[in-house]
Amino acid sequence: GLRKPEEYIQAIRHRKKAEIYVLGEQVEDVTKHPFLKPTVRAYAVTYEAAWDPALRKLAVAYSPYINEEVNRFNHIHQSREDLEAKVKLLRALSHKVGACVQRCVGWDAINALHIVTHMIDKKKGSDYHKRFIEFLKYVQKNDIALAGAMTDVKGVRSLRPHQQPNPDAYVRVVEVRDDGIVVRGAKMSITGVVTSEEIIVMPTRAMTEKDEAYAISFAVPLDTEGIKIIVGRQVNDCRRFEENEIDSLPGAFNHEAMIIFDDVFVPWERVFMFKEWEFAYPLVEIFSSYHRHAYGGCKSGLADIIIGAAYNLAKQMGIADKHHIREKLVEMVFLTEAMYAASIAASWRGRKMGSGCYWVDPMFSNVAKQLVTRFPYEIARLSHDIAGGVLGTAPSAKDFMHPKLKPLLEKYFQCLPDYPAEHRLRMVRLLENISLGVMFLIESLHGAGSPAAQRIMMGRLYDFEKAEKIAKYLARIEKELPEEIRGKPEPWRSDIEE
Ligand code: SF4
Ligand code: FE
Repeated sequence: GLRKPEEYIQAIRHRKKAEIYVLGEQVEDVTKHPFLKPTVRAYAVTYEAAWDPALRKLAVAYSPYINEEVNRFNHIHQSREDLEAKVKLLRALSHKVGACVQRCVGWDAINALHIVTHMIDKKKGSDYHKRFIEFLKYVQKNDIALAGAMTDVKGVRSLRPHQQPNPDAYVRVVEVRDDGIVVRGAKMSITGVVTSEEIIVMPTRAMTEKDEAYAISFAVPLDTEGIKIIVGRQVNDCRRFEENEIDSLPGAFNHEAMIIFDDVFVPWERVFMFKEWEFAYPLVEIFSSYHRHAYGGCKSGLADIIIGAAYNLAKQMGIADKHHIREKLVEMVFLTEAMYAASIAASWRGRKMGSGCYWVDPMFSNVAKQLVTRFPYEIARLSHDIAGGVLGTAPSAKDFMHPKLKPLLEKYFQCLPDYPAEHRLRMVRLLENISLGVMFLIESLHGAGSPAAQRIMMGRLYDFEKAEKIAKYLARIEKELPEEIRGKPEPWRSDIEE
């Protein structure tokens, strides 16, 4: 079913006590906490979209698992059109949220698990997929807000999980019971987690047989005993506590957090991978390709806001038609559309997997994310160039409301008389917040995997042997163009159906 935004907010308000900390204090009600309200709003936007006639087509999909309409954020992709709709939806929702939409990681997790649980069962005769489908039905029927947790704290980076001096540096099984397992460890940098209802946990890297205790995937409600969540800081984060809407920019923030699993019990029906170490790598790469695919949508959406703000500020200054400004704006457009195009292409070269779920093209989605590790920095730089130094020096909204300063600031902060000075301040604050925020820079660089992770994938997926043979043919070293040569076979290749 489809929930209304208010129903979602009620659900996260009335849950049993989840242990959440912000700035050293435990949070009672996430829906009322100024630090977390923007994320509540971001999630609410995803629920609202299903009821918005303009967005409904993108935001709602039909689920064959429950034979009902579902929110696309809980949908299993049934076609290439579904994959394209995901990218379009994220671009559109970024415009409403003005920050990270927060709900995508859980979405990518359910799609990856749909594929991988099926792969494991096929090889091992297990019943993970059946269990997973039961969980999926519960999620879809109740329109649950999901978070996904992959990144472990990782301890010593050069050591495998089982070699770590801290054995809990990666989430692992510490006890096996008749009714389930007990897990321990911590996940880092988890997007939007405290306003979700369920956390889906996945391994973060390839594993060897010795790491089998770490090769686990499961789902737990946020308020499960033993879970502690510590919300991270972000640049400008205390502006959320300010009362005026100009400096506090309602909504245009998000959060990431550390989740500590302090001996948490997970019943068997919520365990989707148990010591299946050979499948840790396929799960990581299938999930990562999905999440990298998402970035071409959400980051191009944020780039639209930055372009719009820079354009408006140029107009306010009376320089929008100057050649050098136009050039910079067009460059920003090029960078934005290139990120988007790569994700759209990854959708249209998507493949149907053994489970029936459509997966994105991994090469194109890794290319999309690699562009996202670079282009937002350049888009931000260009927007700062256009906006001018005022971006770093503008007075506060409180000064603007000060009875003595107001008339003076209205006079001296204005450029073209057609635009009130307050509009300039609003634009400056918006641009500053989005173009310097975690979600447009650091998250673009490291979210869904740091740049090196995409380069490893691109290097693996490209067929260098074939390229060499083509060159040899044209250099007349070999007589014939080679038949298609497959790259190194990846564990999931055999699962591709069409
Ligand atoms: Fe979604 Fe983008 Fe936020 Fe990831 S960074 S959760 S893809 S909006
Ligand atoms: Fe992210």
